[in-house]
Amino acid sequence: MTRATPDDIARSVNDVYKSFPARLRPDIRPNGALEWTILAGFVLQSVEDEHLNCVSAGVGMKCLPASRIPLHGDMLHDTHAEILAKRGLAKWILNELSSIEAGNSSAYLDYSEHNEQKTHTTRTPKHSFKAGVQVYLYISALPCGDASMAHTADSQDAQEAAYYSAIPALRGFDGVAGAAGAASAASEATATSVTRGRMDYTKRGSIRTKPGRADAGSTNSLSCSDKLATYTLLGVQGGLLANIMQPVYIHNIVIGGVSSVDGEGRQKYLSECHRSLYLRVEESVRESAKESAQASPSRLDTPTDHLHLHLHLHRPVIAFTEVRFCHAKEEVEARARASSSQDANEHPHPPVLPAMHCANYVAGDSPLQTELVIGGLKNGNFRRRGGGPYWWKYRSRLCRLDLMRHYLSLECVKGVKSVKKGERERESDVKSGKEDDADDNTNPTYFQLKHSEASNTYRRLKHLLRTPPSLFSEWIVTHPKHAHFDSEGRINSDGNRQQRKVK
Ligand SMILES: [Zn+2]
Repeated sequence: MTRATPDDIARSVNDVYKSFPARLRPDIRPNGALEWTILAGFVLQSVEDEHLNCVSAGVGMKCLPASRIPLHGDMLHDTHAEILAKRGLAKWILNELSSIEAGNSSAYLDYSEHNEQKTHTTRTPKHSFKAGVQVYLYISALPCGDASMAHTADSQDAQEAAYYSAIPALRGFDGVAGAAGAASAASEATATSVTRGRMDYTKRGSIRTKPGRADAGSTNSLSCSDKLATYTLLGVQGGLLANIMQPVYIHNIVIGGVSSVDGEGRQKYLSECHRSLYLRVEESVRESAKESAQASPSRLDTPTDHLHLHLHLHRPVIAFTEVRFCHAKEEVEARARASSSQDANEHPHPPVLPAMHCANYVAGDSPLQTELVIGGLKNGNFRRRGGGPYWWKYRSRLCRLDLMRHYLSLECVKGVKSVKKGERERESDVKSGKEDDADDNTNPTYFQLKHSEASNTYRRLKHLLRTPPSLFSEWIVTHPKHAHFDSEGRINSDGNRQQRKVK
């Protein structure tokens, strides 16, 4: 098998982006400002068919303030490109599983019926990617947060630096600037507090929230560097799919946007990526495991002994690419400068701003492969009516509620919980005067589904990663109340009681 080059992987995602409808791409604002954005995508390569297949992609750099995280699971609160691509991959896997259950074959997935061998990492047979399938992630710029802080420190002008320094600290922020170099930084990544956005950008290793405007509502979404780092331990499939899938690890991460940087600078930024995107996790999780073993020396088998950490830690190969993304910040800035170079006094160059719109792509999804997301909703700006979830037409297919509904429609999870009528069928039932007989008390909540026995290992690894002295122990956990919705988006008022019971 010929392994794809970083440029091949980057081109595969950029080619898909070129097919996006114009309204999904950055635009020229009414005041003439030119917009830029970030593109990310997952690319698969199988052993039989070496063709690179971009299965999901996202463009975007927005996230909702913490105050707007919904109770019904019906909005996307983190719409950075990498996270949209990751959720798009989950949707693509769900589609592929549905297709297999409908009798089709898959070039990429082994359905668990044919994959019965039990390993010590799983108690129940699970679906998995076929042996040899390569999972690549392309990002058009260094991921926000820790991995891009050295680049930010080098490129940020004084005005910008002052702007971000004015952002108030989040809980626990100690304000200590640790100027750790890349080589020694993994062991110096001992800060245990969450840092807001790009504040104190000389500090390395820190868990950071997503960068945002100082005057915008504060976000609890953690940076893409932090989220990507956790995938090297937990896999990129997410907690829901962990019930039925073996962990999906990223083999290669290809990053663009550094082509203008010379040799030494590139090397520095690359080692920052290695430090930030997996070394932090390896160090953190081993420290936590050691600590928990010491805390219970009398027990022969501590909970962490069964986790076999070496089997779960996956170092991705990280490389930069020269392939240029046409709506990258530096490309749009160059076009803005070029447009005013004739007469800079008469035509000052237009401002360059981050794009407002976000979009996602899921290969083969119907009715459309692409979807526009604004303010966490499909096509954006809808007013919530009553106490229920947004109507399905307004929801992104990648929101928690819709991924959960697709998950529940799979044959392989039907043995676990009975599946209710879909919302569309119910709508047509109501129109045709049929009784709605779907209501009962057996509808599990998102929280319950994510806390099933089948994903025990996933949750134990996550718990270990978030246990002191791990750097990730300061991870901002979304309140469980945001997960107590059922497949109809109804909030289960017994949430707290159930949360205790399900544990
Ligand atoms: Zn990001």
